[in-house]
Formats: sequence, C-alpha cells, structure tokens
Amino acid sequence: MDTLRTFPHARHSAGAFATRAHVRPTDSLPRTVVIVGAGFSGTAVAIHLLRLPQPAPLRIVLIERAPTAGGLAYAIRERPYLLNVPAGRMSASSVDPLEFLAYAQRTLPNATAEDFLPRELYGQYLEASLLNAAQASPLHIKLERIHGEVIAIEPARRTSRVEVHLDGGGRITAHTVVLAPGNPAPAALSGSEKLPESRYIADPWQSPPVFRAGETVLVVGTGLTMADIVLAGQDAAKGQATIHAISRHGLVPASQSDFQQVNDERQGRDLLREAAVSLRHLVRAVRALAEDAELRGGDWREAIGTARAIAPSLWQRLAADERMRFLRHVHSYWDVHRHRLPPCSWSALNELRREGRLVVHAGRILDMEGVSRKIKVTWRARGTSAATTLLVDRVVNCTGPQYDLRRTGERLLRSLLAQGMALADPCGVGIMTDEFGALPDASGRVARNLYYIGPMLRSRYWEATAVPELRTHAEQLARRLALPVQSSSPRRHPAGRRELAAALA
Ligand SMILES: Cc1cc2nc3c(=O)[nH]c(=O)nc-3n(C[C@H](O)[C@H](O)[C@H](O)COP(=O)(O)OP(=O)(O)OC[C@H]3O[C@@H](n4cnc5c(N)ncnc54)[C@H](O)[C@@H]3O)c2cc1C
Repeated sequence: MDTLRTFPHARHSAGAFATRAHVRPTDSLPRTVVIVGAGFSGTAVAIHLLRLPQPAPLRIVLIERAPTAGGLAYAIRERPYLLNVPAGRMSASSVDPLEFLAYAQRTLPNATAEDFLPRELYGQYLEASLLNAAQASPLHIKLERIHGEVIAIEPARRTSRVEVHLDGGGRITAHTVVLAPGNPAPAALSGSEKLPESRYIADPWQSPPVFRAGETVLVVGTGLTMADIVLAGQDAAKGQATIHAISRHGLVPASQSDFQQVNDERQGRDLLREAAVSLRHLVRAVRALAEDAELRGGDWREAIGTARAIAPSLWQRLAADERMRFLRHVHSYWDVHRHRLPPCSWSALNELRREGRLVVHAGRILDMEGVSRKIKVTWRARGTSAATTLLVDRVVNCTGPQYDLRRTGERLLRSLLAQGMALADPCGVGIMTDEFGALPDASGRVARNLYYIGPMLRSRYWEATAVPELRTHAEQLARRLALPVQSSSPRRHPAGRRELAAALA
C-alpha cells in the first residue's frame, strides 16, 4: 500500500490539500467510513458526506488503486475526449445544477450549458470540489486518501465493524464501507487468449491503443467506447487506418440533439407505467409515443427521454423473465438511442464511414488466431449461416463493461461473493442492493455497514450509468451515512426466496 498526500489532479486544483493517509490503530476510532474507489461515485459520496452536518467525529477514508483520480471516465488522458452529456447536466450536486458549468467557465469563459466539454476538465472539477469540501468541513470531519487496492472485506470479530484489507498487507477497521469500484472490465472475446498482448487490447481504457497509418483494425463493439477509440485512433493514424467495427446488431449511437417537448410528459409517463406489465406492451407504448411526437412536429427522442426519466420504475415493474427478454431483444436498441454521441463526434464518425475508413458490420465473432504478423478473425454476418474471415493488424475490445458479477475477475468482488456478503443480479446486470444501496447477504439479511454505489446499480434501477443518475444515488447514500448507525434488528431484502436462490445459483 502506498500513501498519498494528493492525487496528481490536485496540482490543477485551487488550494493545497494535505491530508496524510495512514492506517490508524483500531482502538477509540471515530466513526470511520471507508469508500473503495475514487471515480465519480466514490468522490461524490465523499463530497456530500463532507458537506453534510455531522453531530459526531467522522473519518472518511477514500481509497483508489489508480495513480490518478477521476475514475475510468474522467482521468487525465493523452487525448481530450469529450463528455457525452452537456455541461449543464453534469453537476455533481443537485442543489447547484450549474456547478460544473461555473467551474468550467473559469478556464473556458465562453462555455455554455449545451456544450460537450473535455472529460479531463470534469475530473479536475471533481477533484476541486472534493478539496473545497474537505477544506470547508468542520475539524471533527476528516478526509484521508489512500492510494492502494482493496482486496478483501470481512466482518470484524465480536463487533459490528468490518476489516478492509489492502493489497500489500494494510488493514483498516471501518464502521461502514461504501463500494464504488465502478465500471467492470469488458468480457474477454472468444479466441482472444490466443493473441499476443501487443495485438489484442482487452480494455482500451486500461491500455489505450495507438493506431498507425496503413493498418487495419477490428474494433469489437459499436457503442460510445467504439466512437471514442475510432476517433482517437484515426487521429493518431492521421486518418489513414482502416477500421472495421462489429457488434451483433451493428447499431451505432444516435446524436445528441436539442428538441422541443411536444407531448404531455406526465401523460407519457402514465402510459409507459401502465404498459410495463410486459416488454411487448412497453415497446409498443414507446413506439406510439415516438410516432405521436413526430406527428406533432416534435422529435422521436422525446419518447426515449420520457422512458429514461422513469426507467427505474419501469424496470422494477418488469418480472425477471420480461427483464431477460429486454436484455435479449431490446437492450442494443435502447443503448444506441439512450446513450448518445456529442454531435461533433457523430458527424466525424459518419464522415469516416463515408470515406470508407470505418466499416460497421452486424455479426458475431466466432474465432480469432494469429497468422504470421496478422490476426485472422472468423465471423458470421447477422442473418447468414456462412462464416467469413477478416485479416487485421489489431483487435480492440470495445464491448463495454461486463456487468455480470458472476463472471467478474475483480478480486474484491469475488471475495465478497464467495463469503456470501454480496449477491449477483440473477439477470447478470450488476449487484443486488436495497433502496439505499445496502447489500443483502446470502441469507437475505440487509447489511447495515456495507453499501454499493455505481453503474452496477442497474440491477435495481436499470439506468444508473451517467452522472445525472449517480449523483442522486450519491446524495441519498451520503444522507443515509450521516445518520447514526441503526441498532434495530436486521432487515430482510424484499427479494423473494426464488430471486435470492437464483442470485446464489
Ligand atoms: C469512458 C467513459 C466515459 C464516460 N463518459 C460519461 C459522460 O461523459 N457523462 C456521464 O454522465 N457519464 C459518463 N460515463 C459513465 C460513467 O460510468 C459515470 O459517469 C461515472 O464515471 C461512474 O463512476 P464510478 O465512480 O462509479 O466508476 P469509475 O469511474 O469506474 O471509478 C471507479 C474507481 O474505483 C477504483 N477501484 C476499483 N476497484 C478498486 C479497489 N478494489 N480498490 C481501490 N480502488 C478501486 C477504480 O480504479 C476507479 O478509479 C462514462 C463512462 C466511461 C467508461
């Protein structure tokens, strides 16, 4: 374990921050909240906890294994990737919705709420907000930051506390732990185990690929990550790489756009809620709303916005088999309509397609193998039975996070599952929690001292990926943690026995 005074981001931030991280003896502890992961979620929980009034001493320990803050999305990178949400919707605080914009305008005075600003700037904003919150908090609230990886968490003997174990042997005793480990790595592609590391990029956010002029690259996945990697890759290759992108449906995200709401949003929501008895009814209702909006001179995206606003309640109304149906048949369509690109990225991608520098395929990879200095990819186009091959120089896995916790390679999560302290969602979409993010254990009892926040909340809410949703969860969790620990008898998770059995299967 390594201790840090500041993350490198702090160099860009106003004011000095000098909380020395160290592991304290376990006696006479002030109430200690350990947060695992300093991406958006973990940092936002820390900021809100620091800002809330606390009656008793509180020690917040924020642990991050990466060398820089900001998490996967907002860390400093070589290329200025853009946010895919306009600045006016990216505040970490619902009380001050334009907080990020105001921060951005200090360096970009002409920035507006509609602009898609650099992701790195957002990382700096998070860091500055954390430092400000730490400096403004009263003396009895302390923030410590540790650079290290949490590898296990286990109940402490004879107390209600938990022991947090760090890679390298350190240990922290905590009253409460918040897991904010973020976006899981993508699932491995079939055949990738046979490829040399230099030719197969398993996770482009861990090892960003560099494309060269004249080379042919296969990008697997056609969502937002594909867009980032293709645009960055073509920049590096001076537009001279040929990129093939493949996914099961070959769908590319739509562009963000402004539009006037023409339908009554409340009526739309009621219609969707009523339809959420089955996936078939729900899809029909979304289509009807989209058509109606277009007939009235509006934009079909309005229907997606309406569905997204109440996605958690729609998801919760669907039974497990209907959710599985959604994942099989609608998920890809939902993603490209819901997760949209900044207009400039969308235009640049289309330009590459027109020039033949980006070719998008619908199909499935069957195998990959190294052939002399190339990679032979065998794949089958959607709707056909014959396999075909493609010879490429490099393969980049842009399939996005693998949310199926049952397949996670993360040491900490595997350990929690093995101990029965966490449960995987039975549909393979994240981690089971109660309404506050508390984890139910294998017996169905809800933990009083172990919480989760982050994109794997999709098990409960479906839409829990972007800042506007995670911010709400971070604020709610911070308020929960600011309350004295409940001494009432343990609560049971509302999931029925069948659901818990499925989660344990
Ligand atoms: C490339 C990318 C771009 C995105 N862009 C946007 C955008 O523009 N707008 C938007 O609203 N959303 C965007 N998102 C969605 C994004 O998921 C959320 O906005 C948010 O960043 C998620 O934050 P997080 O803290 O939950 O996860 P992460 O950002 O993944 O952070 C988790 C952190 O936990 C650390 N960690 C994990 N395990 C451990 C451990 N055992 N010990 C110690 N540390 C650990 C990781 O190193 C990481 O830094 C983007 C996502 C990605 C992947």
